[in-house]
Amino acid sequence: MKFKMIDKLILSTLIISKFAVASNFKPGTYIGSAPGYKDNIQVEVKVNSKKIESVKIVKHDESPLISDVALQRIPAEVVEYQSLGVDEVAGATATSKGVIAAITRALRAAGGDLNTLRKKVVTNTVKENREYNADVIVVGGGGAGLAAAVSAHQNGATVLVLEKMPRVGGNTLIAGSAYNAVDPKRQKPLGIEDSVDLHYKHTFEGGDKLGKPVLIKTFVENSYPGIEWLESLGMGFKDEIFTVLGALYPRSHKPEKPLGTGFIGTYEDYISKNKGITVLTDTKVEDLILENGRVVGVKALGRKENIVAKAKNGVVIATGGFGANVELRQHYNSKLTKDIPTTNHPGATGEVMFMAAEKAAANLVGLQYIQLLPMGDPINGSLSGNIEGSVEDRIFVNKSGKRFVAEDERRDVMTNALFEQEDTYMWTIVDAHTYPTEQGKNNFNGATRFVMKSYDMLKVA
Ligand SMILES: Cc1cc2nc3c(=O)[nH]c(=O)nc-3n(C[C@H](O)[C@H](O)[C@H](O)COP(=O)(O)OP(=O)(O)OC[C@H]3O[C@@H](n4cnc5c(N)ncnc54)[C@H](O)[C@@H]3O)c2cc1C
Repeated sequence: MKFKMIDKLILSTLIISKFAVASNFKPGTYIGSAPGYKDNIQVEVKVNSKKIESVKIVKHDESPLISDVALQRIPAEVVEYQSLGVDEVAGATATSKGVIAAITRALRAAGGDLNTLRKKVVTNTVKENREYNADVIVVGGGGAGLAAAVSAHQNGATVLVLEKMPRVGGNTLIAGSAYNAVDPKRQKPLGIEDSVDLHYKHTFEGGDKLGKPVLIKTFVENSYPGIEWLESLGMGFKDEIFTVLGALYPRSHKPEKPLGTGFIGTYEDYISKNKGITVLTDTKVEDLILENGRVVGVKALGRKENIVAKAKNGVVIATGGFGANVELRQHYNSKLTKDIPTTNHPGATGEVMFMAAEKAAANLVGLQYIQLLPMGDPINGSLSGNIEGSVEDRIFVNKSGKRFVAEDERRDVMTNALFEQEDTYMWTIVDAHTYPTEQGKNNFNGATRFVMKSYDMLKVA
């Protein structure tokens, strides 16, 4: 994305130390291939006798948007620094490792001195001090932050979005993206009777009546208008309605695009087609600026900039949760030790909400209600490798092959039952009726073929 900077450059000194390669390559073009997150990644590397001239990704099947930064940044940095010792991209580590391994194989074939090439790149950067001004500042470029940014812009504001990860998206980008809403247009033809009152009842009672009625009302009344708003921005939803795991009624919608790419891609399209929203990635908000008790700006650290950003009309904090922060989550739920992998992206660490509580007396509520889900991959916590479908279409069994919970129970009930099973371990059983072909896909765009292959590779038994 390209944006016009509306900021003032205060001081600029940037020093990056580059690495010269002590390699004698055999000039030519070499192909290297290595496994990425999904399948093999293939690169084409061009070298002359002294230098890596170019690195191109020629084939991959990595997840769209999620892996983009790794696929672009790593080849560019290998050429820039003439080194394999470049950083992996957080949030896309499997893709990063695959790209680096594929380039390594090509350079080995070119006769490169791998020991030298693998030396870690150390950049000595003196950061620029920059000041940004906007009507609205949004901290966190996940689903909530980008929705706020687009909405503020539609209402005439200039917006600055600060995102600490290498790309926008947060948990929203890797979510299954089941979207619950009462939607007569799609539910009626399937014979599903539903109402906003019933959605309210399910949400309120499903949350043990602990939720704030006024917020739940806002949520259920605006769920369908939310779909209409997203559709007005160009996002597509399938006509199919299902019951997502842990939901109590068939009102889950599926976006046309996989994972959360439909949401995030739609916001990114809007941002790139309209002037007035600046998005800074790799930019971590580290402090809030207060004037007369009101938050009027933030301080942030970018890869190459120290940032002071001021907002005329407000600062929106949309930094998501803290599932990836083991210490914090264990503080609120002692079961969530470091041995329990998280489904969350690595940026879900929660620092800004505590900053807001400390500096601006933000009222943090309900932190102990961390959503537990029984479907995480036992090795890496990811939901994307599981046989996920509709609640009606599968059973769970423990290591002894016994069912141990009703599969249409609440998520916390199912997870607590799973905690009681041997090795906190279960199998999901589906049949050819719900997973008809090897090309069948789960809610995370994982083809059955790929899911089965990855389990074989991991030797889970
Ligand atoms: C694997 C998975 C599957 C899910 N499936 C579903 C589903 O099917 N249906 C459903 O309704 N919900 C689902 N959820 C939940 C849903 O994804 C989240 O509730 C939602 O994405 C939260 O959006 P958010 O914008 O608040 O947070 P996020 O999308 O996580 O965005 C927060 C952003 O803030 C950034 N940030 C954090 N700290 C800082 C900082 N200091 N400075 C700058 N930026 C910062 C983060 O990097 C991140 O990009 C799922 C979640 C996961 C993890």
